[in-house]
Amino acid sequence: MSRRKVAYFYDNEVGNHFYGANHPMKPHRMRMTHNLILNYGIYKKMQIFRPRKATDLELTNFHSDDYIKFLKLVTPDNMNDYAKEIAKFNVREDCPVFDGMYNFCQISSGGSIGCAVKINSGESDVAVNWAGGLHHAKKSEASGFCYTNDIVLAILELLKHHQRVLYIDIDIHHGDGVEEAFYTTDRVMTVSFHKFGDYFPGTGDVKDLGAGKGKNYSLNFPLKDGIDDESYQSIFKPIMQAVMDFYRPGAVVLQCGADSLTGDRLGCFNLTLRGHAQCVEFMKKFNVPLIVLGGGGYTIKNVARCWTYETSILVDSELTDELPYNDYLEYYGPEYRLHITPNNMENQNSKDYLEKLKINLLEILRNLNHAPSAPQTEIPPDAFNYSDDEEDEDPDIRVSEAERDKRISHPAELSDSEDEDGRKNESNGLEATPTQRRTSRNQVPITAYDKEKPIYDIKFQRRQQFDEDVEMKLKKKKKKKN
Ligand SMILES: [Zn+2]
Repeated sequence: MSRRKVAYFYDNEVGNHFYGANHPMKPHRMRMTHNLILNYGIYKKMQIFRPRKATDLELTNFHSDDYIKFLKLVTPDNMNDYAKEIAKFNVREDCPVFDGMYNFCQISSGGSIGCAVKINSGESDVAVNWAGGLHHAKKSEASGFCYTNDIVLAILELLKHHQRVLYIDIDIHHGDGVEEAFYTTDRVMTVSFHKFGDYFPGTGDVKDLGAGKGKNYSLNFPLKDGIDDESYQSIFKPIMQAVMDFYRPGAVVLQCGADSLTGDRLGCFNLTLRGHAQCVEFMKKFNVPLIVLGGGGYTIKNVARCWTYETSILVDSELTDELPYNDYLEYYGPEYRLHITPNNMENQNSKDYLEKLKINLLEILRNLNHAPSAPQTEIPPDAFNYSDDEEDEDPDIRVSEAERDKRISHPAELSDSEDEDGRKNESNGLEATPTQRRTSRNQVPITAYDKEKPIYDIKFQRRQQFDEDVEMKLKKKKKKKN
């Protein structure tokens, strides 16, 4: 039995959201993950919470007021009235307006803020939100399927109680939104391992190290196609060990984007579940309060496999390779196994290349000011504490909408300063977050490498999706009969 207390945030509404036909981001993957977690019985070893939805005011702890207001107002029906804002905030193409978009943001961000609250209060040692990890969202801009940056919001909450927070990103894409938010502070160290070179979002060069007080507190490990488990761990472990030794964070946030797995619809790495999860296992061993978040992942059966397996590691459970019966069993055929095998793609990351970059980054860490401390001025009040009424012992029993409405806002949410940037810096205790882009980004759309390029018209795609769903249901019925 695990001695660590693990909090797990899940809202069963999340899987109903739909970015659009043929869009690779499918919130349904969170429902598949949750269902697998239930059917493996791992949920018994965690405290399960339904996240309180993040309020507008909570979201503006990082995002600009006008951006949040826009996200709340715009719908597929009225979007023609918002052409100017749609362009300004980049809510188009990769980041389309869809039904319930704002609700989706509130659930995703609410879950991650909830994780931070649980960690801050000491009620949990580990907190998980697979609906979070949306690392590309900027202060006033949607990017790479991300609208609100739950990670930045969670880290801001952690900074109320912790001098230093470490952020690690193992998504195949660079964690640009989080890096940018904390680029000029030494209170947050960001470390991202990602594919670099003609790839979304275009940032994350090894030379990008932070600025001002934050110089050397942003680390980037640019990678090439085809990295396998062994090569990945040959850099991840020594670098993270050194970061933990030199930086000594009070809390760690680990973004577990599953698009770095082999066979991902958008990715080009060759990691198996075991290789990916070794990062989780390694960070867990430090016994530092840990938040584990989702992120990318576009071959959804593998995303569910990966996050289920990683949840089991956090609660020290062993899973059988044979998948248990679950609502989405058909997705996992023909093997119906948990683990996946790497493919025979070439690993373009030579030993030499990895070794050189590793030494370069370790050198930077060696010269760091050991565990820097910042004078903490006034600490803003905590966000809502879930333990008052949110714990669901039975994951199927949910708090009713009416009950939820009864909840009163935290007094801190009622402050109404008009000075947006000033307020932010005061409440974060951080220097100004750079609002403009640091570098001229050579941005490639995230879908540029989608092997399943949309070639049909929307109506046809919708029908196709419908047909697939029907087919899946029929298969399921057949299976049940047999
Ligand atoms: Zn990604």
